[in-house]
Amino acid sequence: MIIVSRFIEKVKDGIIKIIGIGAAICPICRNEMKSHGRCTRYVEISGEERRTYSLRVFFCPRCHHYHRELPDFMIPYKHYSAETYAEIHNNPSNCFKCSVDEHSFRRMRAWVSAFMKFGEAMAERIKIEYPSLKTNHDAELTESKLKYFVKVVANSNEWKFIGSPVLSG
Ligand SMILES: [Zn+2]
Repeated sequence: MIIVSRFIEKVKDGIIKIIGIGAAICPICRNEMKSHGRCTRYVEISGEERRTYSLRVFFCPRCHHYHRELPDFMIPYKHYSAETYAEIHNNPSNCFKCSVDEHSFRRMRAWVSAFMKFGEAMAERIKIEYPSLKTNHDAELTESKLKYFVKVVANSNEWKFIGSPVLSG
């Protein structure tokens, strides 16, 4: 998958279409990808509201992989938004707790705190490898940091290393 920060949202019949701005670059070989249809993705907003998104799917003509295009408020393989995870990380006693069961809540909390540590280390490593790379997130805001880490990890094709029980939970 690839994560985009700049995108357009178009709503039709209750489905929100996401259209990224700019070329879609393959996270594996850095080649420009071609559009290959769309897929449906659901995101839970508060535990009560579920939104339906239509995401673009790309195909890389060079390395022959398919990649979904996710807006940066989504987290790959997660049903809750980056905002929700940031809220859990910052304020675990929040009432959001009431809308998911205790087990899920604990698992989400463990995931986000492990991912924030992983993302921090990953961003540091990438800064050393690519000194010119801009780290344009607000270091003070958990949501901004989380979105940035998700983007860095996904777009450099490192998500596959998030395989430990804690990080994939
Ligand atoms: Zn490729």
